Amino acid sequence: MTLVAILSGAGISTDSGIPDYRGPNGLWRRDPGAEKLVTYDLYMTDPEIRRRSWRMRSDSPTLRAEPNGAHRAVAELSRSGTAVRVITQNVDGLHQLAGMPARKVLELHGTAREIVCTGCHVRSSMKEALGRVAAGEEDPRCLACGGILKSATVMFGERLDPEVLAQSVAIAKACEVFIVVGTTLQVQPAASLAGIAADHGALLIVVNAEPTPYDDRAHEIIREPIGTALPALLTRYRGDRPDQN
Ligand code: ZN
Repeated sequence: MTLVAILSGAGISTDSGIPDYRGPNGLWRRDPGAEKLVTYDLYMTDPEIRRRSWRMRSDSPTLRAEPNGAHRAVAELSRSGTAVRVITQNVDGLHQLAGMPARKVLELHGTAREIVCTGCHVRSSMKEALGRVAAGEEDPRCLACGGILKSATVMFGERLDPEVLAQSVAIAKACEVFIVVGTTLQVQPAASLAGIAADHGALLIVVNAEPTPYDDRAHEIIREPIGTALPALLTRYRGDRPDQN
């Protein structure tokens, strides 16, 4: 059975109203003040940074966003019986909301839908934490241990989860088709996954408006808007054994 891997970046979620925060030209890189809010050492040592971070999270469109046609097309491909794995640089959780089983989505940069305690590492929902912020807590603390809470995303200065990265590399090596969608492949180590897939014989397809450093290794490059191009592309790989993968 064909294993289709999809590496998604910010471009798949712009139709859902989520701006590109993290990319090389993303909001955080263009605004050093904003980048401080997601830099681990500053976040852990400066209460004012944390208060501003919680305000930013409260204002963020991410938790209110809905999946779009591209997210739905990926989930439909999985439901059609094709083996699909998603590796995403996004923290918005929209692949799962579109119906992709959570165990088939690897979130390289974590998720904005959960928070984690930096003391006892317990995880809970971002919505609940934002409720506490709305109720007046400017820097809510862990209810179990009093530790500093942060978004369960990978901040600048934090390592990627080695287990998530190892699984992503394994999928890049094992897949027959590796589709890059909505990322310019500038951020490592995510970008290198495209090269690993190509090195191991996968058909590499790039769906992105802008050129990427891996375009010369791609078998196919699609510049059309993701919202229409990705659903059309994925129909090629539809299986005929629903729910068998
Ligand atoms: Zn704790």
